[in-house]
Amino acid sequence: MELTALKGIGSKTEEYFKKLGVHSQEELLEFFPRDYELFFPPVTVGEIGYKTFAAVRGVFTQDLFQRRVKKMTITTAQFKDEIGKTIKVTWFNAPFMKDAVHPGQLYILRGRVSRKYGVLQLNQPKVYTPEEYAKKMNSMQPVYPLTKGLSSNLIAGAVRQAIEGDAFAKLDKEDPIPGEVRVKYGLCKKSYAVSNLHFPESKEAYMAGAVRMSFEEIFLFILSMKRNESDQKTVSEVRISNCEQTQAFLKQLPFSLTEAQKRVIGEINTDMMSGFVMNRLIQGDVGSGKTIVALAALMNAAYSGYQGALMAPTEVLASQHYENITRMFKENGIDLNVALLTGSMTALEKRVVYDALESGRIHIIVGTHALFQEKAIYHNLGLVVTDEQHRFGIKQREALAKKAADGVQPHMIVMSATPIPRTLALIIYGNMDVSVIDQLPGGRKPIKNAVVDDSYKEQAYRFIEKEVAKGHQVYIICPLVEYSEGLDAQNVTDYTEMLRDVLDEQISIGMLHGQMPNAKKNEIMTRFAEGKIQVLVSTTVVEVGVDVPNATVMMVEDANRFGLAALHQLRGRVGRGGNQSYCIFVCNNHSKEAMERLEILKTSNDGFEIASKDLEMRGPGEFTGIRQSGALSFKNFDIYRDADIAQKAIEAVNDYLSGRLRLTKSEEELLLERTSLEAGAVLL
Ligand code: ADP
Ligand code: MG
Repeated sequence: MELTALKGIGSKTEEYFKKLGVHSQEELLEFFPRDYELFFPPVTVGEIGYKTFAAVRGVFTQDLFQRRVKKMTITTAQFKDEIGKTIKVTWFNAPFMKDAVHPGQLYILRGRVSRKYGVLQLNQPKVYTPEEYAKKMNSMQPVYPLTKGLSSNLIAGAVRQAIEGDAFAKLDKEDPIPGEVRVKYGLCKKSYAVSNLHFPESKEAYMAGAVRMSFEEIFLFILSMKRNESDQKTVSEVRISNCEQTQAFLKQLPFSLTEAQKRVIGEINTDMMSGFVMNRLIQGDVGSGKTIVALAALMNAAYSGYQGALMAPTEVLASQHYENITRMFKENGIDLNVALLTGSMTALEKRVVYDALESGRIHIIVGTHALFQEKAIYHNLGLVVTDEQHRFGIKQREALAKKAADGVQPHMIVMSATPIPRTLALIIYGNMDVSVIDQLPGGRKPIKNAVVDDSYKEQAYRFIEKEVAKGHQVYIICPLVEYSEGLDAQNVTDYTEMLRDVLDEQISIGMLHGQMPNAKKNEIMTRFAEGKIQVLVSTTVVEVGVDVPNATVMMVEDANRFGLAALHQLRGRVGRGGNQSYCIFVCNNHSKEAMERLEILKTSNDGFEIASKDLEMRGPGEFTGIRQSGALSFKNFDIYRDADIAQKAIEAVNDYLSGRLRLTKSEEELLLERTSLEAGAVLL
């Protein structure tokens, strides 16, 4: 059903929705909030600390003061907490405020905090009576992923209307989960799930909905994998041998390879000569040195007369691989041609690369998914390596595999630092062979970890200044890009501003997040890699693969909002050089569970162990709000959080495939429709 059939949505707003991937009311109904606005207990002025957003309890000390500047009304006031500390409050164009509040009466003000020369100020806060606030504290308001032109409120309004309409009424009739499966696993109806994910009646209702939507997604995924899988090995004419030049190159490196690296390189070499298409997954924790293993394989491909492609999930990472490889080749006198291909290059730049690729002048090409767009034609592609594979869909990899001439299939390597539960790995990677780099290069100092709360921030900033003074660099991670309608979590934009006020003014501070244009992201990352930016405030976009050995501090704000696996990945960004490195996890949720969970990071340095302990501690079905990871690009299913759901889905798929379920004709048809080959592309 058309979006424009909803009141208040014209063709312009419809375009904005399309940017979010929402083309119809059906898609809108499954476009779930990214988080929920939760109202936290109010704090005193003193407790605001370095928050950029706060709810403060207190009284106005006197009448509000109002003045006009040009066409604007500015209302200001002093607000005092119970301890007697005050904060300045400002509203723009809110003349009604003056009569709406009464000095001496208790209120809770909730808004953005700013600092001018260290003086705190609360801007445009919303005003609540304690009773109103208490009510809000028990409700969950949806917060949607935003794009230009769409506010969370507008999206919520559209969803409310859609829930009244025909698209919603169809949900249960067209439920792809067969009734028998739904009943067996105690899953709620689809309509109930959809309405409670948008507007939860309670946390329990939200949970039931989340579990159901997660089950649906992974169930369909597993079924389409099983339907379309073949475990036949494909014969290959591409023979890639272990060339002398590669061996010499590896011997010349400033370090010696670990035993694990040598073993995995050996496994790859055997595969590439076997006469069958290699399909190998390399799992290795962050910092285990996967890149050099891939490079050895790519060099062998090139010296054996084939082209090799290295695909990375982000432009930042692709550029970095490209620069590292060209640098190493130059230092070691390797005469192979390496090229970079990314989406943000100009049409002309791309044209040059396409030509060189087709003629065979390029031996190794590094890039993003631009590598398998139609215009990229390969001369003789023999090997495809995808780095940090979990960000790619399987279909995308297959598209690249098809790039080889005349149906000759190239060998495939995928590399991942994401530890995936074994049962799931078997399904997701299907017929892949797995190599594990289970050893970290020696000579590294273990990272020192601290779990702290806001009261430690002052010390943390002074420590960061000291590290910068030593010539080192710092990452600071915030969960959000910008202020988001009252989500109580730090955001990169306001935080960067705040830091400029708090840190020594000589320090150069930069910011990075996923909503920036790619060219801008590359520029920032390059400046950070060159040491021109000393403190980088970022979202988790730096989580994947980036290598700046000079960085020694990783501070994560609102660490409790991240999954441990994600935090471990972040930690992997430091401790890459010879210097002592530090991780500071800031957690202001003082619940025993939240703290204990983070403590796991202090006791373990093994990504596999951390992911499984995280799962154990939180237990299935615990409410976490923000999803744990973008691993494998699922929408509702989370590979860490929902391992138990996956287990049930596997069981259900097996029941179905072995004919143990009784399905109605329409259930059967629905399933077929959703799990045919084409559907697989949509799923990922
Ligand atoms: P990841 O597995 O996380 O992709 P990288 O391949 O980026 O790790 O390697 C991390 C760092 O370790 C790089 O700077 C790389 O040059 C270095 N490195 C790789 N192998 C070794 C080794 N055997 N000894 C010492 N340093 C190594
Ligand atoms: Mg890597």
